[in-house]
Amino acid sequence: MDCRTINDKISQYLDKELDETQTRQLEEHITTCAHCKKTVDAWVKLYGVLEVEKSEYAANPFLTQRILHRINAKRNAEYPSTLTIRRIVVSSLAAAGIFIGVIIGTLFNNSLLTSSNDENDQPWAMVSEEYFPTEIFTPFE
Ligand SMILES: [Zn+2]
Repeated sequence: MDCRTINDKISQYLDKELDETQTRQLEEHITTCAHCKKTVDAWVKLYGVLEVEKSEYAANPFLTQRILHRINAKRNAEYPSTLTIRRIVVSSLAAAGIFIGVIIGTLFNNSLLTSSNDENDQPWAMVSEEYFPTEIFTPFE
């Protein structure tokens, strides 16, 4: 193995991913090559630091739970669920239905109770006069 090959294989060596032959060749090479020995030593040192860091920042099992809980709470606050939207739509439609019912009932009631026989005093006649003034719309002229 030459120095370049060794350099490419150091991380595999430290992860113990090299087969027996390659491991032996690499170890033989670093006993004779000071440069590669230095590089491998530096990697070993780095791996040691990383292991220490890893254990210091080991995942807290409750942390995941807390973060997920917070994310869900925030999501629910920002985006109402489909159930909430459905409830809002249903209650709006119900309110609109009641409103329309009251309007129709009021108009119908007024036309029944009104004593005037003049057709133009009827609420529907007044509404039609408002939207289709007879002075403009005279279909039977
Ligand atoms: Zn070398």
